[in-house]
Amino acid sequence: MSETKSDRRISRRSFLKGTAAVTGAAALTGIGVTEAAARTAIPRKWNLEADVVILGFGGAGACAAIEAAERGARVLVLEKQPEAKLINNTRMSGGIYHCPDPTGDRAALKEYAKAMFSGENIPWKLEGEQPEWSDGLAEAWAEYAPQNVDFLQKLDPQYKTVGFSAFAGAAFPKFPGAKDCKYRVFGSTFTGQASFNEATMNKPKMEKMNGEAFFYVLAEGARKKGVRIVYETPAKRLVQNDRGEVIGVIAAKKGGGEVAVRARKGVVITTGGYEYSKAMRKAFLEGPGVEGWAFYGSPDNTGDGIAMAMAVGAGLAKVGKAASRIITAVPLRYHGLKAGLITPAVGRPNAIVVDNYGDRYAAEHLVTKDPSRYFFYKEAVKFDILELIYPRVPSWFVFDETLRSTFTITNLGISTAGFGIVPWSKDNMDAVRRGWILQGNSIEEIAAKIRNHPENRKLMDSQRLVKAVAGFNESCAKGKDETFGRLAATLKPVEKAPFYALPLYPGGPNTKGGIAANAAREVLTWEGKPIPRLYTAGEISSALKFVYQGGGNLTECIVFGRIAGKNAAALKPWK
Ligand SMILES: Cc1cc2nc3c(=O)[nH]c(=O)nc-3n(C[C@H](O)[C@H](O)[C@H](O)COP(=O)(O)OP(=O)(O)OC[C@H]3O[C@@H](n4cnc5c(N)ncnc54)[C@H](O)[C@@H]3O)c2cc1C
Repeated sequence: MSETKSDRRISRRSFLKGTAAVTGAAALTGIGVTEAAARTAIPRKWNLEADVVILGFGGAGACAAIEAAERGARVLVLEKQPEAKLINNTRMSGGIYHCPDPTGDRAALKEYAKAMFSGENIPWKLEGEQPEWSDGLAEAWAEYAPQNVDFLQKLDPQYKTVGFSAFAGAAFPKFPGAKDCKYRVFGSTFTGQASFNEATMNKPKMEKMNGEAFFYVLAEGARKKGVRIVYETPAKRLVQNDRGEVIGVIAAKKGGGEVAVRARKGVVITTGGYEYSKAMRKAFLEGPGVEGWAFYGSPDNTGDGIAMAMAVGAGLAKVGKAASRIITAVPLRYHGLKAGLITPAVGRPNAIVVDNYGDRYAAEHLVTKDPSRYFFYKEAVKFDILELIYPRVPSWFVFDETLRSTFTITNLGISTAGFGIVPWSKDNMDAVRRGWILQGNSIEEIAAKIRNHPENRKLMDSQRLVKAVAGFNESCAKGKDETFGRLAATLKPVEKAPFYALPLYPGGPNTKGGIAANAAREVLTWEGKPIPRLYTAGEISSALKFVYQGGGNLTECIVFGRIAGKNAAALKPWK
């Protein structure tokens, strides 16, 4: 993977020849001259080389690397972050993934997966829109997903799974195949336990849990297979030859300048979503995508791979989709965007959610319950077509002293609090002192504080909030929420002063849409044609375009990461 003699032979002459050939090919293939001329020129000299070059060392990149290396390919991964501080979404995650029982009915499993991916096999649904490859995607899921536990335990026999009653089985029991596919969902651990409230980042291996354990297995697995990882080297542009094949990558070099990396067989883009790209959030998300949304994963997922793929003609698919609900965020900014926090306190007793006027609008437990928690954002981005505002952006989490003193608003073991991106104390009081959580001695005082919050735009009506709290407390006394159907077990009143409020924004762990790709995980043009030698996997090109079952993203990191790595490794080197 070091510089080779043949690299140095790629002289200025061949560079110019390459450029001329691009223009010629453009005329033949009908690519516009401007577009062709905008292509990254073939470098005169390649600084690094491998068979398969992978962009981004998260779950999908690691799985692609492992599979390609197992098939004899020399693999190089370019990673944007420094090694000592590598914190990607995979590592920050809950470590939950699917591994259907291998003794389940495979045809049923395929149907269930297809329903989640596109809904095309559900007669009463309208979405879908990937009929050309949803069958192949589902076939791949049915083949690979039941191997997931084995795949991880082969990499590290000390790795253990753990079950969660809240996520067991098929989350969509009415979907075709759900009954017979023996769906199973697992968490990740070395300890035998999985607590989302205990941070295990950088702890010794046998103390790791959740995403920290999951990513450890993959990262070490890749290293043991001889995969070379080059850190602090973000990929910037893809290099195509005159046949449109992707033959390399230009990356920013640590310390300045650029590095040209030749990919003899193929390139796999696994750079994660666009959670921290202001421009892409503006372009793709419903409503105010910059200030009105938040994500609680890695600030380094800035949509780079989407931009790079688009520059070589990739099409996009369901880019506005996100595995999202409503979450809180704080004014600590990364790339100019507020940092989000996983917010499991929503839907708990002694708390309600109201819109900017002070009215409840949904059964709050749906925000955090599976599977509705992956779609709840759609309730929050509702647009008032008469007033021309988003009355639920942000929404407001209003709670009392009982909740504040007994439940930590966020998880301290995973996500931004677990990985030191946002400071948070177990008793929530740090956030009160910082002014992130508003505090008041009465509901009227809380209403006034919300009204003075710039994001409320003076919409809060104290009387409406007082009425909402009183109505909710009456439902608690009756043991039944007749208006919204809030889960009876969570009906405990908001009554003990002081009271608190936090803004809640549409958002969650990650975006789910991006680069269009088929079942072989080849990146596709808008016309649906594969861009030669270019593959993708992970949340940047999620297969889960219709609905989402918790654990789906890590599952696809393994399933489609492996497929992308396998297919790239199987190519003959370009000449
Ligand atoms: C807190 C949290 C909890 C979650 N829990 C779960 C769960 O339990 N189960 C589940 O299935 N899903 C979960 N998810 C979602 C899931 O973790 C992600 O969708 C998944 O890990 C994405 O993997 P990935 O490899 O696509 O991206 P990532 O793991 O984010 O990796 C992308 C990598 O690309 C690098 N990169 C970015 N740009 C460049 C560039 N230009 N050049 C080189 N490298 C670049 C990044 O630094 C990063 O290392 C959770 C997410 C979060 C944030």
